[in-house]
Amino acid sequence: MQFGFYLPTKILFGQGCVIANAQEFSSCGNRAFIVSGRNSARVSGALSDVEQVLNSEQISWQLFAEIEENPTIESVIAAAEQARQFAPDMIIAIGGGSPLDAAKAIAVLAVNTITQEQLFSANFLVKPLPVLAIPLTAGTGSEVTPYSILTDNQRQTKRNLVSPTIFPRVAFLDAAYTQSLPQQVTINAAIDALSHVLEGYLARRATPASDALAVDALRCFGSIKDQIKDNITLPVRQSLLYISLLGGMVIAHTGTTLVHALGYSLTYFKQIPHGRANGLLLAEYLRYSQSAVPQKTDTILSALGLASIEDFSDYLTTLLPLTETFSREELVHFAELASQTANIGNSPRQPQAAELEQLLTAALTGHVID
Ligand code: NAP
Ligand code: FE
Repeated sequence: MQFGFYLPTKILFGQGCVIANAQEFSSCGNRAFIVSGRNSARVSGALSDVEQVLNSEQISWQLFAEIEENPTIESVIAAAEQARQFAPDMIIAIGGGSPLDAAKAIAVLAVNTITQEQLFSANFLVKPLPVLAIPLTAGTGSEVTPYSILTDNQRQTKRNLVSPTIFPRVAFLDAAYTQSLPQQVTINAAIDALSHVLEGYLARRATPASDALAVDALRCFGSIKDQIKDNITLPVRQSLLYISLLGGMVIAHTGTTLVHALGYSLTYFKQIPHGRANGLLLAEYLRYSQSAVPQKTDTILSALGLASIEDFSDYLTTLLPLTETFSREELVHFAELASQTANIGNSPRQPQAAELEQLLTAALTGHVID
């Protein structure tokens, strides 16, 4: 047995954790640059809690509330320019995965003058600013990952900045902030978290420690799975935030696999939200992988409280009914793009582009126009 486990983020989980831990902010300095989306920081109540803490700690701040979903490299550069002028001691990230990921790259670019290539190869000399992360969705786990996933319009896909220096310093997880999330966004995010746990568990880079986290998260998901569709109470939201956190801890060590690789194209070219994109492929992925990882497949199903992959597929179809249509050319293109990613080599079976196309065809069956 041989593995490493590095997770430098301090995790504070529970109701009121932002207000109760004001010293976490003041210990970073007295100037904060806040990064958020347009509305969620305000409507969730998180921004007013942060403002209260910053006032009480006499920390001055500037707010950049323009991060869009699936943030682009351009908007991160624009935000970093503002941050540079403000010269903050810390970045406070409030939002779903989009603002959290953007904030990590802004933390790098605010103190390093580098090209895009240097950014994505994590080639920077100055240590990024500390990031304090407050997730408002329960899905990405970005509050505990060393990843910043940005949309690259030139390459027509998402690119991943990976560096241990961008792990947030502190993660504040308060499920009350997720109560303002619309139902379908909650479901999509929950399936992203499930996807992280399942992919991380099956990944070639899985370790005994990441597996322990993954199995706990799968069991937890199994215990609330029937409430996700139409009975999302606060305790269910707490469980989802916990699963999302564990999912982030898992993929911080294992990375993701072919589901995320294919999902990026569904998001980029078909505007399908990230979690939903993964969810459309997850059952077929399990079916495809089963022969390589039979025991792990059994463990996944029993932890989720499901009898078979068919039941898993039915469950996901109920949560995420397929409405989109796809052309054959699109599937060939998506398979080709995914086959060039590192995620493929991390999957339990290593498909060629043609197999990826078959997997897509099976997953999206009835919705492919030949
Ligand atoms: P998101 O793109 O951050 O947000 C989706 C939508 O939900 C936005 O319209 C947002 O509004 C709204 N919203 C978020 N929280 C809300 C709340 N509490 N109340 C009301 N509305 C709220 O969604 P996400 O699924 O969390 O993040 C997806 C992104 O994360 C993708 O770019 C994906 O690639 C990335 N990701 C990163 C990692 C990682 O390890 N770093 C892992 C998986 C996925 P606003 O626009 O107002 O904020
Ligand atoms: Fe994801």
